[in-house]
Amino acid sequence: MSGPGEPGPTGTTPRGDGSHRASERWITCAAGHRHWGAFGAAGMLISTSGSDGDLHLVVRRALWVHEGGTWSIPGGARHADETAEAAAARETVEEIGPLPEFSVLSVGTEDCGGGWTFTTVRAAVAAPFSGRLSAEVDDVRWLAVREFAGLALHPGFRDYLERHQLL
Ligand SMILES: [Zn+2]
Repeated sequence: MSGPGEPGPTGTTPRGDGSHRASERWITCAAGHRHWGAFGAAGMLISTSGSDGDLHLVVRRALWVHEGGTWSIPGGARHADETAEAAAARETVEEIGPLPEFSVLSVGTEDCGGGWTFTTVRAAVAAPFSGRLSAEVDDVRWLAVREFAGLALHPGFRDYLERHQLL
């Protein structure tokens, strides 16, 4: 077995080669769950004030992605060398395109119970913007929380909404 930073079986090191193979993989945490992202993951819950209450940007995950077909926030695996906030913004841009100016409302990191973390960055924008689709996202919508009821929500996103009493 090789430890962190030691050469792997082929003599290459898993980090520092310009790719992110080290972070973008499945791991099993101490509680026995499988998670995507060796260094945790992060996403952005982007909101704006509508005439009839707050609207939130949600994305539908493409069918080939884990939990495909469910609705969630944009996000993904955190790289070893970046903050959760930077990871959330980078993954969001990768999934739905450039972001307008936003202000960060809160950054909340939650541990699954086995040492793996997901960080939710809540951000506000002045007005809804149109996200583009990507390989990982096949629909983007701005919805009020009451409209979430009819959607198949990603289990992790549903947990977050329930814990924060947003549902
Ligand atoms: Zn876990």
